[in-house]
Amino acid sequence: MVPVLALVGRPNVGKSTLFNCLTRSRDALVADYAGLTRDRKYGEGEVGGRSFMVIDTGGISGEEEGIDSVMAGQSLQAIEESDAVLFLVDCKAGLTPADEMIARHLRTRNKPTFVVANKVDGTNPDIALAPFYEMGLGKIFPTTATHRKGVRAMLDAVLSEFPEPEAEEVETPQGVKIAVVGRPNVGKSTLVNRLLGEDRVVVFDMPGTTRDSIYINYERHGANYTLIDTAGIRRRKNVKETVEKFSIVKTLQAIDDANVVVLLCDASEGLVEQDLHLLGHTIEAGRALVIALNKWDGLEDSHKEYVKNELDRRLRFIDFADIHYISAKHGTGVGHLYDSIERAYQAATEKMSTNFLTRVLQDAVREHQPPMIRGHRIKLRYAHPGGNNPPIIVIHGNQTGELPDAYVKYLERTYRRALDLHGTPVRLEFRSSE
Ligand code: GDP
Ligand code: GDP
Repeated sequence: MVPVLALVGRPNVGKSTLFNCLTRSRDALVADYAGLTRDRKYGEGEVGGRSFMVIDTGGISGEEEGIDSVMAGQSLQAIEESDAVLFLVDCKAGLTPADEMIARHLRTRNKPTFVVANKVDGTNPDIALAPFYEMGLGKIFPTTATHRKGVRAMLDAVLSEFPEPEAEEVETPQGVKIAVVGRPNVGKSTLVNRLLGEDRVVVFDMPGTTRDSIYINYERHGANYTLIDTAGIRRRKNVKETVEKFSIVKTLQAIDDANVVVLLCDASEGLVEQDLHLLGHTIEAGRALVIALNKWDGLEDSHKEYVKNELDRRLRFIDFADIHYISAKHGTGVGHLYDSIERAYQAATEKMSTNFLTRVLQDAVREHQPPMIRGHRIKLRYAHPGGNNPPIIVIHGNQTGELPDAYVKYLERTYRRALDLHGTPVRLEFRSSE
C-alpha cells in the first residue's frame, strides 16, 4: 500500500511549497487535474525507498462562500481520499480562527493527523509552537518548507505509521494485469463487463492492494488475466445502485499496478485534457498501453473521419500504442483489444539479452556515429537489460550525458524496431565510465 497524504490548511501557509518539496524526486508525475478536481493536485514522492502519494488542496480559509466553498469541498474530499492528513499551520501568523475550524473538522474524522508548523524560520520555536498545541491534535512538527528543513523528520514520523506490508500478503494475481482507466462516463463499466465476457469464467474476486479497486482473475481462451476494476462494477449489487465515485487516487494506483493500461476515451467528445493527463501518467509510469475510443457506434461518418485525424495529430508522440475504435455497448471491436493487450504485454516483458542489445547498439553506432564533443567522439560501448515493463536498456559509454536528444531518439527507434517493442514505453539509461 502506498500511503496517500493530504495537505490541508489555510491558503498561504505553504502547502504548495511543501507539495513541491515532497514530490521533487518525481515531479514529472505531478498531474494537475484542473477541471475535474478543481484545484486538487496529485503527486508522488519517495523517501528512504518508501513511496507515497500527496494531494495538494486549495486551502480552507474559514470564510467560504462561492468559489471558496468549492475549494473547501475539494479539501474535504482530499481528506476523505487520504490515509493521513498533514495539517499545515503558519508559525508567523500564529493560531487563527480558520485553523481552529479546520482542527475541529479533523477531530471528527478518524484519520491520523500530523500538525506541521511551517515557516518556523526566524521564530523562537518554543514560543511559536505553543499556541498550536491548544488544537489538541498531538505532536507538532516544525518545518521551513522553503528550505526543506524539518521535512524529513516529519515525513519519517508519518510513514512510520504505515509499515510496509509483508510481501505476498495477498495471493499474487495471475496472468496479465489489465487496468481499464478513463474519465467518468466514458464506458469503463460497460467495457469491463464486455472484457469479462457474457459467460465469464471468474475464478475469484479479491480485494486488491489498490485502494478500493477489485482484482478480478479470469480465464479467456486458456490464458489468465487479472482485471483491475476501478469502475467498481463488481461491487454493485444491482444495476440501480449508483456508480462509485470516480477516484483519481484509485485510477493512478491502478495504472501503477497494471501491466497493461487500456485508456478509454469517449469518441463523441474526442480527446480532452483529462485523457491526456491519464495518458501522461501511464507513460511516466512506464506501463504498456492500448488506447480505445468508445461510443464509436453513435458517430456520423464525417465525425469519425474528424476524430481519427484529430487523434493522429495529437497522439503523434506515442505512435507505439494501438488505437481501437470500439463500441463497448454493442461489443464491436472489443475482441481485438485482447490482441493489442497481448502484444503490448509480450513487448513489455520480453526477455532481452546483453549480447543482442550490444549488437544492436554497435550496428546503430556504425550506421550513424554519435557526434564529437569538444574534440572527442562520444563512445557507446555495450548495453544490457535493466528491467521489464517497461523495458529498460542500460547503455554504457563515455560522455553519454552529452548525447543530443535526437541521437537518443534514434537509438530508441532502433531498439523499438529490433525488439519489436510495440505497445510499451521503453527507457534508455546511460552510464558513463568517465
Ligand atoms: P499555499 O497557499 O498554502 O499553497 O502556500 P504557498 O506554498 O503558496 O506559500 C505561500 C507563501 O509562503 C509563499 O510566498 C512561500 O514562499 C512562503 N513560504 C512557504 N513556506 C515557507 C517557510 O517555511 N518559511 C517562510 N518564511 N516562507 C514560506
Ligand atoms: P463509466 O463511468 O466509465 O464506468 O461508464 P459506464 O460504463 O457506466 O457508461 C456510461 C454511459 O455510456 C452509460 O449510459 C452507457 O450505456 C454508455 N455507453 C457505454 N459504452 C457505450 C458505447 O459503446 N456506445 C454508446 N452509445 N454508449 C455507451
